[in-house]
Amino acid sequence: MQLQVLAQEWRAQASCKGSPLNFYGKRVRKEVMNLCSTCPAKEECYQYALRNEEYGYWGGSTETQRNKERHRLGIELPGSERSTSPEISAKRIKPITHGTESGYRSHTRNNIAFTDERGNECDCREAHKWYLRKYRESRAKSTEVA
Ligand code: SF4
Ligand SMILES: [Zn+2]
Repeated sequence: MQLQVLAQEWRAQASCKGSPLNFYGKRVRKEVMNLCSTCPAKEECYQYALRNEEYGYWGGSTETQRNKERHRLGIELPGSERSTSPEISAKRIKPITHGTESGYRSHTRNNIAFTDERGNECDCREAHKWYLRKYRESRAKSTEVA
């Protein structure tokens, strides 16, 4: 799981980190669009989402926009046959990508225990701590410069 976290280092720069805004749902709010449009991680976020995220607004793109682009480029989402926990199927929410900040947000948003599909404790809380630490570090750096 640590590898997965490191591979997504761009998330440390994500403007949406800790944001209470809703990135899911049919209509994308202006505040969400504004946040993404100035986010330093926008391009990496978009490239990641193009290959991994079916739902939600990511890197300035909607679900429909990414679907079209996937179709154009012949990209398939991984894990489309992945099994989901009963909790998740019952709530009709997307499978959680454990060990990530967005996974952490899914757990807390939907009030789901920090376990993976097999019932083992997952790494989302660890990932969240990592992001917070990185965020504080980057904040500290930017105030040093200022
Ligand atoms: S571009 Fe991606 S990382 Fe940045 S605010 Fe938007 S969703 Fe978050
Ligand atoms: Zn998790």
